[in-house]
Amino acid sequence: MVGKTNLDQFGMGSNNTNLVFGPVLNPKYPIEDNPRVAGGSSGGTAAAVALGSADFGIGTDTGGSVRLPATYCGQIGYKPSYGRISRWGVVAYAQSLDTVGIVSKDMAVLRGAYELLDQYDEKDPTSMTIETRRRIKRLSPVSPASTSLTIGIPIECLVTELVPEIKDSWLKLLSQLKQMGHQIRTVSIPHIPKLLLAYYSICTAEASSNLARLDGIRYGHTAGGGAGSSSAPEIMAETRTKGFHIETIRRIILGTYTLSGVSGNHYLRANQKREALVKEFNQIFNMTNPLFHELIKRDDSKCDFLLIPTTITKPPTLEEAMATAKENFLTAYVNDVFTVPASLAGLPALLIPYDNTGFQIIGQYGDDEAVLQFGSTIE
Ligand code: GLN
Repeated sequence: MVGKTNLDQFGMGSNNTNLVFGPVLNPKYPIEDNPRVAGGSSGGTAAAVALGSADFGIGTDTGGSVRLPATYCGQIGYKPSYGRISRWGVVAYAQSLDTVGIVSKDMAVLRGAYELLDQYDEKDPTSMTIETRRRIKRLSPVSPASTSLTIGIPIECLVTELVPEIKDSWLKLLSQLKQMGHQIRTVSIPHIPKLLLAYYSICTAEASSNLARLDGIRYGHTAGGGAGSSSAPEIMAETRTKGFHIETIRRIILGTYTLSGVSGNHYLRANQKREALVKEFNQIFNMTNPLFHELIKRDDSKCDFLLIPTTITKPPTLEEAMATAKENFLTAYVNDVFTVPASLAGLPALLIPYDNTGFQIIGQYGDDEAVLQFGSTIE
């Protein structure tokens, strides 16, 4: 174990600028002149791996925090299916989404690390059960030797905000896959445009609940209370005001509002969108979702994997990221549009660096082995 790395506070962010310890700069770009961000939240992990300080690193990916920094720093990043790697010991941000992921330069190292970590753990109540693990082995239709797979492109990902360079790289990668003998097919996942709202309702609600324990008395950092002069409510207020980054405070307020039911139950409604999304994914993948018992038959309009970008733009400069965070914090949220679908449905997503950006290979829930195998064939 070499060390712990920097990240946006509690994993909340996409640019590694919501920090207590200062921003992480991207080692792929010149640092002296107008440095670029490493991406968040696990930017410290991605930067350390990019610099060769470690063979691989881990981080939590709640809505893209392993895949986005891996893309910005030119590394391979893997978010396994939800529940594959134990969350025991991980500080919860949004527990229904938090997934331990891996960053490495080398596919063989990443796969080795994943094989070690991919274990049922009774200490994590959301760990994927042994029975589900067995069921997955029987269900995956992709054999390691498959040379002709069907790759789906969701039409909802063809957004106008995608910069031309990323669009061009995407087309180049697709034509490379065609030459390798794979088929490319457009598919539709109509819920994709609605997912940012669902994601930010769910993650803030869960965060507001998880972070309630950080009251300055029972855990961690404490502010105030000098010489026994303050009351418990004063210590709590001061600790929470001074200890949390402004972005964390914003999300706690948003999440508390969401859970309060003031204007309808947003948390439940967001989870209904999530259920609908899982059904849409079940319709387009060849593999049956191991958590559902009906066997969906393979037909010609289905695919083995999806292939989509991770981000709509190049990494911003630190200056740009700071300025947009000040002007409108929602701008950073929009950049999660391509990473939250796999998070909300708990699907495995492998980020492969390609052409100065990165693309995600997304498979059905549990189909991790096949996703990694397929990813290993792409240079
Ligand atoms: N950018 C997303 C957020 O701020 C994802 C973060 C993460 O995966 N931890 O919530």
